[in-house]
Amino acid sequence: MIPELLKESSRIFICAHVNPDGDAIGSTLALKHILERKGKRATVAVPNAFPDFLQWLPGSDTILVNTNAKHKEHIRAAIDEADLIVVCDLNQPARLAAMEELVVGSKAPRILIDHHLDPDPNFCQAMRSEPTMCATAEVICQMLCEAGEMEGITPEEATCLYAAMMCDTGAFSFNSNRPVIFEHVSRLLAHGIDKDQIYRNVFYTASEGRLRLQGYLLYASMKVLPGRHATIMTLTNEERRRFRIKNGDTEGFVNIPLTMLGIRLSIFINEDTEHPGTMKLSLRSVGSFPCDQMASRFFGGGGHRNASGGKLHCSMQEAVEKVKEAIECYAELLK
Ligand code: 5GP
Ligand code: MN
Repeated sequence: MIPELLKESSRIFICAHVNPDGDAIGSTLALKHILERKGKRATVAVPNAFPDFLQWLPGSDTILVNTNAKHKEHIRAAIDEADLIVVCDLNQPARLAAMEELVVGSKAPRILIDHHLDPDPNFCQAMRSEPTMCATAEVICQMLCEAGEMEGITPEEATCLYAAMMCDTGAFSFNSNRPVIFEHVSRLLAHGIDKDQIYRNVFYTASEGRLRLQGYLLYASMKVLPGRHATIMTLTNEERRRFRIKNGDTEGFVNIPLTMLGIRLSIFINEDTEHPGTMKLSLRSVGSFPCDQMASRFFGGGGHRNASGGKLHCSMQEAVEKVKEAIECYAELLK
C-alpha cells in the first residue's frame, strides 16, 4: 500500500521525531531526494533543531525546523497543501512534540516508516514497521530493493541512507549483525558514497567545548554504582553554559561509560534546554538489559532494548534519586 500511496501523491510532507538524530535526518532527506527525482514536491520538517554534525548532509539546508519562527508558517502551509504525509523514525505521535497537532489534524493520508518497537496502530493509515532493522534508513533500503529501484539511486541519496544507518549503529558497532545490512552498504558504496568522509563528517567535528565537557563529565560527573554495573552522569543548563555548548553537542556521551569493563547500563540525565525543570534521560545498555522497559516503567518513555529515553519533571537531585531507585529495582538483571 505504501508504494502505491507514494506513487499517487505529488506534494509530500515528510517529518521525523523531536531531537532529530542521524537516522531521523538521513532517512527523511533520502526520501525527499528520491521523491524529487521522481518529479514530486517533497518537504522535510522536524520539531526542533538538529545537531551541527548533520548539517553537511545533502539537502539539510532545506529542512524546516518548527521551533524556528520563520519556518513555522512554511510548515503549516506545506502540511495544508500536502496530499501525503510520511512520518519517519518514530512510533508514537507524541514524538512529534509541538508538530503533533498539525500532523494529526491534517486531512492528508499518513504513512509511517519506522524501526521502533510497538508502533501506535491508530496513528497512520499505512505502516512499514520493521523493529528488527537497524535504522529507518535500512527500511528504506529494503523498500527500494523490493521495488527494484536500488539501481537508480544517486550519490546524494546513498550518502543520506548510509549516514543514517551509520549513526543508528554507532558506525556499525552495535545492532548491526544482520548480513543484509552490509549488502545494503555494499550497494551504497557502488552508488558513490565516500564512507570514510561520512565518518569524519559525523564523528570528527567536535567543538572545543564539547571535548572539554566530555572530559569534565567523565572526571567530575560520572558516578559508578558499585555492584550494579551501572553509571549515572548528569548535565545541568548551568554547566552547559559554562562549556558554551549547544543542544546536539552532547550526542553520544551516554555511550562512553559502556566502554568501561563490566558496565552494562549507562544513564545520562540532561536538564532540558527549552524547559528547565524537566530532566531528559538517555539510557544505554549492552547485552540483554532492557532499557526500554526501565524507561517506560520509571521515566514515562521507551525506545529500543539497548537505547531508550524518557523524562522526569523534577530537580536534578530528585532525578538522580529516582534513577538510583530504578537501578535498585533492576539489581537482579544488572548482576
Ligand atoms: P536518546 O537517548 O538518543 O534521546 O533516545 C534514544 C532512543 O530512545 C530514541 O531513539 C527513542 O527511540 C527513544 N526515546 C527517547 N526519548 C523518548 C521518550 O521520551 N519516549 C519514548 N517513547 N521513547 C524515547
Ligand atoms: Mn532510528
